[in-house]
Amino acid sequence: MAGSGPIEELASINAYLSEAEGNVLEAIDGGLLLDRTVFYARGGGQPGDVGVIRWDGGAVEVLDTIRREGRPFHVVAEGAELPHPGTPVQGVIDWARRYRTMKTHTALHALSGVIFRDFGAKVTGGNMEPGVARMDFELEGISVEFGQQVQRKLNEELTKGYPTEIIYMARQEALKDPDLIRTKVNLIPEWVEEIRVIDIVGLDRQADGGTHVASTLEVGEVRVVKTESKGKANKRMRIELAQS
Ligand SMILES: [Zn+2]
Repeated sequence: MAGSGPIEELASINAYLSEAEGNVLEAIDGGLLLDRTVFYARGGGQPGDVGVIRWDGGAVEVLDTIRREGRPFHVVAEGAELPHPGTPVQGVIDWARRYRTMKTHTALHALSGVIFRDFGAKVTGGNMEPGVARMDFELEGISVEFGQQVQRKLNEELTKGYPTEIIYMARQEALKDPDLIRTKVNLIPEWVEEIRVIDIVGLDRQADGGTHVASTLEVGEVRVVKTESKGKANKRMRIELAQS
């Protein structure tokens, strides 16, 4: 019976899937819940997927995917015609947008790895859109030259083709990992017993629910487009993917 089990969230298992079959669990004005979805629900600084959900006799555009009561919720226009619960559907994401987001997300993790390794600074915040992102660091100072230096180092690392791997760690184990401590794994709610970790093997490692490319080579070239001070020991860097 639909609705009795947990929702299968394919994006966290295989980031490269662009479409998947599922069944409608709930249809309410403005949104759909599916028992199986390829859409990534907004979280961890990564935007939610957009795309389309099709069924025999209809289709609806997905404007955003958010998390509601812990479940991925496909946001659609109010008043849109929706399939009934139990209807088999096919979800298709805007793959070009998602793939750019994956490259951007991996670039941000690589950036935080480089800044920590070479300058000892931790991340204080960040956000991304497909192709552009910002990240804040615990740095005393920042300059255009520093931005250029970081850009050089970052691109040098990306072209080395580090693989990215998804690993799952028991909470107690994760709390002892120095890389995860530096990226504040302790802030993850206590009820989460198994921590999902994105390991850019040899460069960066952090707890993360997002979607990433399989190798840093896929990111392509990244530009540091802006550096700015957001206060004492809080400096912001904006990056963008060189390829559109
Ligand atoms: Zn992340």
